[in-house]
Amino acid sequence: MPIATVNPATGETLETFEALSPHELELRLARAYAAFREYRTTAFEFRSQLLRRAAQVLDADRDRLARTMTTEMGKPLPQAAAETAKCARALRWYADHGAALIADERPAEEDVADSGATAAYVRYRPLGVVLAVMPWNFPLWQVVRFAAPALMAGNVGLLKHASNVPRTALALEEVFRRAGAPEGCFQALLIGSGAVASVIRDRRVAAVTLTGSEPAGRSVAAVAGDELKKTVLELGGSDPFVVLPSADLDAAVRTAVRARVQNNGQSCIAAKRFIVHSDVYPRFTGEFAKAMGALRMGDPMEPDTDIGPLATRQGRDELSALVSDALALGAVAECGGDRPEEPLGRGWYYPPTVLTGITSAMRIHREEAFGPVATVYRVDSLEEAVALANDTPFGLSSNVWTTDPAEQERCVRDIEAGGVFFNGMTASHPALPFGGVKRSGYGRELAGHGIREFCNATTVWLGPV
Ligand code: NAP
Repeated sequence: MPIATVNPATGETLETFEALSPHELELRLARAYAAFREYRTTAFEFRSQLLRRAAQVLDADRDRLARTMTTEMGKPLPQAAAETAKCARALRWYADHGAALIADERPAEEDVADSGATAAYVRYRPLGVVLAVMPWNFPLWQVVRFAAPALMAGNVGLLKHASNVPRTALALEEVFRRAGAPEGCFQALLIGSGAVASVIRDRRVAAVTLTGSEPAGRSVAAVAGDELKKTVLELGGSDPFVVLPSADLDAAVRTAVRARVQNNGQSCIAAKRFIVHSDVYPRFTGEFAKAMGALRMGDPMEPDTDIGPLATRQGRDELSALVSDALALGAVAECGGDRPEEPLGRGWYYPPTVLTGITSAMRIHREEAFGPVATVYRVDSLEEAVALANDTPFGLSSNVWTTDPAEQERCVRDIEAGGVFFNGMTASHPALPFGGVKRSGYGRELAGHGIREFCNATTVWLGPV
């Protein structure tokens, strides 16, 4: 895939970038390693100040950064601005809380007395140079949610961003430079995915985090595993959105639409499979399809656009193929289901689509629909809903609409996912851990879990003197 900015609303190539030469890549690796040896010794206060200044730069540059993202990957401009603001909040959150999250841990003296220690504690030390392989869908947020805790812990970052968001990658490097990050602490590497393995294998790189698809996760984890280097993987999802009879149906429908089409439907934690109890199925499905069909699709720079284009032609074609497969096997399109004609057809648009009549023979039953396409299933009981929720290779998050505490407890116990959100939609938050199970990956980002992923939990033991 060429490294290029291509406007998905028009298909026009705006700028292409040369990949780094081996020499340029070597310079950046050397710079990162040298930076780590100094930066690891800095005080928490120094790092907090750095994150706060980065947040200020993001706030000051919100409009420009939002336009860059929308130009490169097509999300509606207000959502791009909101993403930039969210990044600033996360930087400030780690500036405020990071030091406490990785402060020394001291077990009670009596608990370690039989080890012969007069005292013992755990110190969270940084691992080193961390490579971040990142996707285009939330091109600022995915990076910041890695970078804020990593830098706060004393690591330094190398960003291999998706090849279709090079301007955003360079803008992020610029944000940290303007914030006063020591040289080499945060660098973008304009390289293709074929060059990632050699970077992981480089002795100066300590660990790697990848957010992206299952195939990319598998190949990065294989190389890192061969090198015995730590990985965190945030991969795809096909989150269930379960609606039970006690739900507030108006709120459930409104939220279902947002949960499916936010970011033009290209979110790992988007609700993708809607599992609805038969008591409320006709009303939910009718109102959901009506609301999805009424969304305004168009230029993502226009303030009243609900849905812009998909980020890449390939992504649009894959989504279209998933829907065609389902329709050929008997699914019913309650709305959408076909590509728009001109003039929108010049970009990579795909209309909001609601499919019913899904069977396990259809690809969309087990594959991730990365765009504004919802599948709706009818179930007769909570047991059936949970079984269907778990009938997927993925396990990122889940959404359940019920006001019954017993049903909620049952879902917390039985749904195989990294999150269960009741009467709302899944969203990431700096204070809450984020990540999945099964083929959605492993490890956690955000909160204390995220900052400790790239730390060496060092046992310090003091014997009698
Ligand atoms: P992708 O194709 O896997 O790309 C993600 C990143 O991995 C890009 O930087 C890409 O570089 C790189 N890459 C691809 N193949 C690679 C390989 N074999 N070795 C090393 N690096 C490789 O994913 P995407 O299409 O950009 O993003 C969509 C996917 O990400 C969806 O499945 C979505 O659910 C998932 N996602 C997950 C989360 C989460 O937190 N769990 C969040 C957002 C998105 P190039 O661009 O140069 O190919």
